[in-house]
Parts: sequence; C-alpha cells; structure tokens
Amino acid sequence: MANLEANRWFTEISDRDGSAFSLRVKRKLDEKQSPFQLVEMFETTDFGNLMIIDGCTMVSSRENFFYHEMMSHPALFSHPAPKNVVIIGGGDCGTLREVLKHPDVETVTQIDIDEVVTEMSLKYFPELCESNQDPRATIMFDDGIKYMREALPESIDIIIVDGTDPVGPGEGLFNHAFYRSCLAALRPGGIMIQQSESPLMHMELLLEMREAMLEVGFVDLQTLPFPQPIYPSGLWSATMARKSAAFNGFREADADNASFSTEYYNSGIHKGALATPNFMQRAFAKQ
Ligand code: SAM
Repeated sequence: MANLEANRWFTEISDRDGSAFSLRVKRKLDEKQSPFQLVEMFETTDFGNLMIIDGCTMVSSRENFFYHEMMSHPALFSHPAPKNVVIIGGGDCGTLREVLKHPDVETVTQIDIDEVVTEMSLKYFPELCESNQDPRATIMFDDGIKYMREALPESIDIIIVDGTDPVGPGEGLFNHAFYRSCLAALRPGGIMIQQSESPLMHMELLLEMREAMLEVGFVDLQTLPFPQPIYPSGLWSATMARKSAAFNGFREADADNASFSTEYYNSGIHKGALATPNFMQRAFAKQ
C-alpha cells in the first residue's frame, strides 16, 4: 500500500511487517499499469529516482548497488568458470549490468515478465541499462517460470532469480516446481541465487525457500545478508544454492583482482556475508 501525502512524502506501508518507510519526493515522474502490475516512478529529493511496483519500493538511484552487486558477484565468483547466465526477473537491468562486468561470461539471458519495468528503467535509470546493447546479452519478456520449465537440461552455469515478492506474478518463483526446473537446467557445479527477503522480517518465508531448495536437491545453501536501505527493515538477503558441492568457497583472488569496479562488493564483503548472524544460524539449525 502506498500514498503520496500532501507534504510530498512517498510512504510504503508494509502491513505484513507492521512498519512503514518514507522518502521525500519532488514529483511523480510516471505511472503505467501493465497487464501484471502497477509501475510508478518518482523523483526524490535525496535518493534520485525511485521505482515502485504495486506499492512496494523496488529501485532507487542512490542505493540500488547493494542489491544488484550482491545478486551477481557472490554467485559469479563462487563458480569456477561461469559462462552462461540466466536472470529471471531483473527488468530494471541493474543485475544484468553487473553480470556483464565479468569478461569471461559468454551469454546472459534476462527474462522478465513485464516489458514496462524495462521501459521505465531505460527512461529513468539509464545508468542501469548501459550494458543492454552488449552482444552477450539477450533481453526477453516472458514468464520466467515457463522459461525455466522449458530450458535445456544442464545448459546454464548461474541462475539469478531477481524477482518481486511472492505475490502476483512472482509467487511461482518460490516453490518446489520452479526450483526443480532450475536444478535440472543447471550444469553440474551450477549455482542458483535468489533474492530471499528480509531475514529479520520474513524468516518464515526464508525458511520455506531454503527447505524447498534442499528438498529438490540443492546443496550447500548460503544465505547472504546485506543492507538494503529502502526495503522493509533495511536488512535484506540473497540465498545461494549449488547443484553439487564440487567447488567450495569462492575465487577470492579473482575478486581481489577484478578488472571492474563496484560500489559495495569486494572479497572482504563476500567473506563477511558468508558469516551467518546467530539469529539466522539458530533458525537454520532447526531445518
Ligand atoms: N529488487 C526487487 C526486490 O527485491 O523487491 C526486485 C527487482 S524487480 C526488477 C523484480 C522483477 O521481477 C520485476 O520487474 C517483475 O516484473 C519480475 N517478475 C515477477 N514475476 C516474474 C515472473 N514470473 N517471470 C519473470 N519476471 C518476473
């Protein structure tokens, strides 16, 4: 639920969490109801442009780097040689841009259900879309659940599930059937990483996701916590799961000597994110 109050604050009221988060806005830039969701754009006073989907904050210019870097680099540096990457969702193209920073990646296919998200991002977050013309990138608009169901077995090294919350079109990205399709489409040693909500606010959902991933046969799960200032509680996570435990740890030296720059991610951040806070350890231990 969202509203732009008379005093020019955009507020996301998160009923399920008993919390709310506000950003001061200068004006509303755009709004489009797609067949799937309502996409709104605001110009804020301090966070740059802001994308809202169905009343939930999605992306701001100022702090999206936390999310996009943690959705991409930990998984890519945890695979010995990722060549083929698939992004489910990710229509703002920020994760795509980060993946394409890896020179050894040969193909990245992004499948978002909603073309309006990418249209809006091209207009209001051009910096996130600056690699869209990279010849290694394919941008498709389709249901990611169907795409994974029909994917060739053992054809993908990394699957990044950069989807919305488990409501509306994103609901089917959180269940056994979807994870089974992902597991089948990964090559041996492949990795799936999915945004897994707030460990503080949404532990029940996080546990359900982890359980479903384990039940379909994923191994070596790592839930990486990271700051995400505009999402409920400000603490977010991504859960990484391997098809097989053949490769352990991550390519730390490659992360240290990366040929590209990042705002948040580095090898120390990666190691830090592998250290699971105690309240999460206790919850995971019951699984
Ligand atoms: N950063 C956000 C967050 O964690 O809340 C998510 C990013 S946003 C780019 C998520 C994208 O997932 C949206 O563009 C939405 O259209 C897309 N999406 C939702 N359900 C989908 C599905 N079934 N297949 C493909 N894309 C989907």
